[in-house]
Amino acid sequence: MNAVQLLEFLVSTPSVSGDEGKIASDLGGILSGEGFRIQREGDSIWFTLGKRERPHMLLLSHLDTVPPCRGWKSHPFKAHIEDGKLIGLGANDAKGSVAAMIMAAREIQHRDFEGSITFAFVADEERGGEGIRAVKPKLGHIDAAVVGEPTGLQVCTAQRGLLILRCTAQGKASHAAHAHLGENAIHKAARDISRLAVMEFDAHQDLGATRAEVTQITGGLARNQVPDRCEFFVDLRTTPNLDNAIVADEVAATLESEVAIHSHRYEPVATNPSEVVVRVALEVADASCGIGSVTTSDWAFLKGIPAVKVGPGNTNRSHRPNEYLLLSELEQGVAFYSRFIHTYFLMAAKEVVHV
Ligand SMILES: [Zn+2]
Repeated sequence: MNAVQLLEFLVSTPSVSGDEGKIASDLGGILSGEGFRIQREGDSIWFTLGKRERPHMLLLSHLDTVPPCRGWKSHPFKAHIEDGKLIGLGANDAKGSVAAMIMAAREIQHRDFEGSITFAFVADEERGGEGIRAVKPKLGHIDAAVVGEPTGLQVCTAQRGLLILRCTAQGKASHAAHAHLGENAIHKAARDISRLAVMEFDAHQDLGATRAEVTQITGGLARNQVPDRCEFFVDLRTTPNLDNAIVADEVAATLESEVAIHSHRYEPVATNPSEVVVRVALEVADASCGIGSVTTSDWAFLKGIPAVKVGPGNTNRSHRPNEYLLLSELEQGVAFYSRFIHTYFLMAAKEVVHV
């Protein structure tokens, strides 16, 4: 199977989050047949190459896709090639990265290098990251990581996190005609929402400011009753200079409503430009500096490990109908990961920075 055939196979094997069993088995079977020693946890698979333990590099991407949306002109689960594009669900996000990483793995399969590399293709990235969270404890120490997502092969060195707060304004119910006997929870929520709209957090140099966006609100039981409860959700796309827990505390201190953390596991992440993984990725990409990324990924669960997010494709095509990857992008992706691996181990051996 060449790179195009491999991507066709991946796209034509449906793997919506929660339903990755078949792709994990079939891909695992193909790779086992080629001599890779496949390990599996749930519907995530991985294998490790190399004789020496350290430095240990992780190349990570995901097998799952979002469900097909409306607007597809062709069958989303049947890959087809047209005008130099491979079209199908997941072609861009992120099966192109998976295929390119596998091609790079084949190139070094029988080669000697100073360290080890784990290639991990995990389930559930689009739904909460259960795949990587289950696999990571089994991988041992990781010195550096590359997360394969469609970045146009630009090197992302910072990624926003996600903090969701559930806020509850408590009041006292009364007849609307005797409002002085009650305490209006919706009015209290409205004051808080005005406060949130002007709340400011320290801006990040690459990613800019974090805003508190109110995204859902419910309150009130009857049109003639002062409401005693109003609940609203706040979505904050946090930046690496902030900490989700501290941001939550700041919001709680500003609002009259009770503030509870609904979700905080997508921590914002960034990697220092002086790290070998960044310098090598930039050299291979022929770029002078990294970029920031507003979308979350499984990188959020690798906090503390020097990592970059880079892969073939374009994030604007993800989660949309008629998703595609250019065949030229796939080829460039294979070349990028191959050169990256080669250069990383050369530089790591020279600098002896990790061991
Ligand atoms: Zn993705």
